[in-house]
Amino acid sequence: LRVAARPLEPGPDGARLALLTFHDDTELYRIEQTRVDFLANASHELRTPLTSLRGFIETLRGHARGDPAAQDRFLGIMQAQAERMSRLIDDLLSLSRIELSEHVPPSEAVDLVEVARDVADALAPQAKARGVRIEVDTPEAPAQLTGDHDQLVQVVQNLTDNALKYSPEGGSVRIAVESGLAAEAAAGPRRKDAHRLPLLTPDLGKGPFVAVTVSDEGPGIAREHLPRLTERFYRVEGQKSGDRLGTGLGLAIVKHILNRHYGGLVVESAPGQGTAFTAYLPISEPAEAEAPPRRIATQ
Ligand code: ADP
Repeated sequence: LRVAARPLEPGPDGARLALLTFHDDTELYRIEQTRVDFLANASHELRTPLTSLRGFIETLRGHARGDPAAQDRFLGIMQAQAERMSRLIDDLLSLSRIELSEHVPPSEAVDLVEVARDVADALAPQAKARGVRIEVDTPEAPAQLTGDHDQLVQVVQNLTDNALKYSPEGGSVRIAVESGLAAEAAAGPRRKDAHRLPLLTPDLGKGPFVAVTVSDEGPGIAREHLPRLTERFYRVEGQKSGDRLGTGLGLAIVKHILNRHYGGLVVESAPGQGTAFTAYLPISEPAEAEAPPRRIATQ
């Protein structure tokens, strides 16, 4: 809070007057702080694999010189670290592109049934390699809405990619599309045995909705982690994710894209019960509606 004081001319009765201005910088400060934290986190996340790479290079040039087995193992780790850096940079670029687009309402005709099927096809090889089945459960008719096609593919892809990553071998992942949901359905509870938390509230005035739910039979997520899942770089400690360490940006990207679409995101999960993420997307055409001020997601 900034306070400024300026003396004024004396009043008619000789009273001494001053003008006091109170300036509330809390919101500005919070946004600035978010940016600073983000930059610090991004640098840290990029530096970690880089430090590890430098360490291995030193080892390879040093005492691993005459040991082909060790060399091979270290090169494998180095490759994984380099790939992780690539994923981080891709995700960071995605996030900044999405933020730039957030003020422009999306305007393409998108069929979410097609999106769900395309994502399932694209991730089939990855699922097969991990011994996980992908089921797609969609209505016969298309689920049309106005949106950004590539961004909606990214939403379903990130959620399915996570579901696969955290699935046990032999498990199955389900992508379900439901069309024409009323606002109450978009807000109401579904599964009884899990904790349910809205991570982004949809613009209920813009219903009816199309819902895409991606569910898995993975380890589930403890309740205390749920509110933080869409924070940038937030990862649940000690969770097995196959052979790929995530970037912690996937769900932040999902949230920003849904925000641009006036959509919502709900997580339902409990340890041992698997996890389900549901994205709600209004069918109404954002371009035609009277544009309300954009909600700003700062996480
Ligand atoms: P990451 O790239 O690490 O997967 P995300 O932002 O996509 O980053 O997810 C954040 C964290 O949420 C993950 O690190 C993981 O701990 C948890 N998580 C996300 N999806 C699932 C899931 N389907 N099952 C269990 N945990 C999940």
